[in-house]
Amino acid sequence: MTAPNTQIEPPLLGEPYLLTPGPLTTSYAVKKAMLRDWGSWDDDFRAMTREMCSRLLKMLGAGAEDFDCVPMQGSGSFSVEAMLASFIPRDGKALVLANGAYGMRSLQTLQYLGRAHIVLNKGDYLPPRGIEVAQILADDPAISHVVAIHCETSSGILNPVEEISEVTHAAGRKLLIDSMSAFGAIELKVADIRYEAMVSSANKCIEGVPGFGFIIGRKSELEAARGNSHSLCLDVHAQWAHMKKTGQWRFTPPTHVVAAFLEALRCHEVEGGVAGRGNRYTKNRDVMVAGMRKLGFETLLKDRWMSPIIVTFFCPADEKFVFDRFYGLMKNKGFIIYPGKLTLVASFRVGCIGQMDATVMRQVVVAAKESLDEMGVSDATPPALALKERARLAA
Ligand SMILES: *Cc1c(COP(=O)(O)O)cnc(C)c1O
Repeated sequence: MTAPNTQIEPPLLGEPYLLTPGPLTTSYAVKKAMLRDWGSWDDDFRAMTREMCSRLLKMLGAGAEDFDCVPMQGSGSFSVEAMLASFIPRDGKALVLANGAYGMRSLQTLQYLGRAHIVLNKGDYLPPRGIEVAQILADDPAISHVVAIHCETSSGILNPVEEISEVTHAAGRKLLIDSMSAFGAIELKVADIRYEAMVSSANKCIEGVPGFGFIIGRKSELEAARGNSHSLCLDVHAQWAHMKKTGQWRFTPPTHVVAAFLEALRCHEVEGGVAGRGNRYTKNRDVMVAGMRKLGFETLLKDRWMSPIIVTFFCPADEKFVFDRFYGLMKNKGFIIYPGKLTLVASFRVGCIGQMDATVMRQVVVAAKESLDEMGVSDATPPALALKERARLAA
């Protein structure tokens, strides 16, 4: 096997690396793909949409022929809303498994949609386990759908979708997955994990630029989704049916974003597909976490739950540590980090996805060390409360 071309180039014009979960740092090739204008009705663009969908479906592995891909304009949340509104019938009821901001967003979306729902709210970062889900489903026969977040980006936890899928289908219910920040780097093969639909977007692990998302749904569910949606624009069935008939998006597609995404998908394949992409991100995480731990930083999650997508660190206890200052110092050194989202203790996040490799991640650690020095923080150990909080996390 020849080594795939996974050469990571530094960003153009000295722009900082985005250590954020999308938008993220994209390659020059992806940016360059946007330099041409496309007619949305033209055969060339229709072929691009077709190739994009078939490349995405291929990632599902054996059994992908039972699924179809429906791209949807807007950011990822538009696609989540489209999925929930289209696949959950108006008389359906959803169980939302929440352990962070994105689970709560799905819940809020269902409130807007007026769909019956209940929530299993695990707080900031505890994983929803199969056994709890099974109990809730047994207690409430009205639940038709379970909504799970694959990687909950607000903490970086990789939720146990396999066991959630198992208990959901054992109970005869349907599973919808928000795999926004995981798809393309973490396997979601339909032969291994059964689900009716999942959603992701252009600007996460495939490393495209923002502008649209996509819903991958079982064809039988797409068929059954007719008339469910409250929304003209977000009707997945209508978009799917129109695309099947004409090869076109219903309304103006983000043509440049699609062109960039197609280039990103080709690079993804060259890198070794989901496994290759996942390996690079895992290495990014391991190098970065090991370096940060050496400085005294502690991760919110134990290794078992840590995704290769984004990592939450506790802020150091030292009162000379001020997050905004740290952020600015890191930015000056070429790295944009991400504020934390925990409610109880101060934290920040560092993303591992985008056009970055282990060399870049080592530079991130050096920049963190220098930034601590500049603030006069000699030890990054978090406060005792943070460690006590973490001890609650199941093994
Ligand atoms: C990024 C993301 C979304 C979508 O967010 P947008 O800002 O609408 O693109 C949804 N769910 C998860 C888990 C995400 O990481």
